[in-house]
Amino acid sequence: MNILITGVAGFIGSYLAEKFLSEGFYVIGLDNFLTGKQENIAHLLKNKNFHFIHYNVVNYIYIDKKIDIVLHFACPASPVDYLNYPIQTMKVNSLGTLNTLGFAKAKKARYIFASTSEIYGNPEKHPQSEDYFGNVNPVGIRSVYDEAKRFSEAMCMAYHREHNIDIRIVRIFNTYGPRMRLNDGRVIPNFVYQALKNEDITIYGDGNQTRSFCYIDDLIEAIYKISITDNLNGEIFNVGNPQEIKIIDLAKKIIQLSNSKSKIVFKPPLEDDPKRRCPDISKIKNKLNWEPKISLDKGLKFTIDYIQKVANYE
Ligand code: NAD
Ligand code: UDP
Repeated sequence: MNILITGVAGFIGSYLAEKFLSEGFYVIGLDNFLTGKQENIAHLLKNKNFHFIHYNVVNYIYIDKKIDIVLHFACPASPVDYLNYPIQTMKVNSLGTLNTLGFAKAKKARYIFASTSEIYGNPEKHPQSEDYFGNVNPVGIRSVYDEAKRFSEAMCMAYHREHNIDIRIVRIFNTYGPRMRLNDGRVIPNFVYQALKNEDITIYGDGNQTRSFCYIDDLIEAIYKISITDNLNGEIFNVGNPQEIKIIDLAKKIIQLSNSKSKIVFKPPLEDDPKRRCPDISKIKNKLNWEPKISLDKGLKFTIDYIQKVANYE
């Protein structure tokens, strides 16, 4: 089977390519390196079953090959990145989603869309299940990401209803692990890097906001299952780790796990920063028998080891 992955040079896209290659798929990857890195895919370029195309998916996509599954993962994911590239973020989730859906239609391919827990906005329901509509500020600074992802979801469902495209939407909750960029602005690389350098750990707000962090290997397993299982046409899945933690407790845990002398400092809160976030994963548990296996402590240790290694060479 042949698959197309957009955003293949990014954090999640590069692991997805590895997983599908190891399962015997032929993988075509597209990326324009907006937030991705050559190093993330350098090791795959030697594989005869991997083909990379340097391309911006907001343009019309033509590939003269049978494609069975399209995974649309291109999009800046860190708040720092999408606030740096607001228009590109909206384009990749409108024109990019349109082009990849049109491509899937032409190829009669299955289509997997990388959505996000951000579509729930600042949720008033806990934990968030797939039937919750969310609480989103349509004109706030984060709307370039959360509203764009909501638009993409609506377009996926329109293609599903009008053209019967076999779509599956994955609402990904905060995911972390080796290969994240040290300066991508997300909380785990920020805190770990600060802790390893014994610098102040910067908490935005009072630190009582919560997130639920999923280790990358667990996420990849879930996306793989969602992609290869039959009879999931039009289905939506939350994927994440329901172990919810306050950001202040995350900071303390990282200080302890990395034997750091860092102190915690408080900065002004970010605009529209969601106060609580935790996935209800009963749907994927019941339908696909998936649940995360890697605890936060274990995943953080892997991530700290990785950052320690790469940071030494910067
Ligand atoms: P990332 O920034 O590491 O990867 C995104 C990749 O997309 C990059 O390689 C970038 O260069 C590429 N890209 C961006 N615009 C493009 C365009 N127009 N054409 C071609 N390539 C383009 O981010 P990530 O963490 O790997 O996230 C991947 C996907 O998962 C995104 O769609 C993101 O919204 C979603 N997601 C991620 C998380 C998370 O915690 N990492 C959470 C929710 C959703
Ligand atoms: N955060 C923080 N300090 C940092 C980076 C992030 O306190 O140096 C907080 C941020 O305000 C948010 C949480 O950590 O409440 C998660 O932020 P991240 O950017 O990782 O992801 P998202 O907000 O998209 O869930």
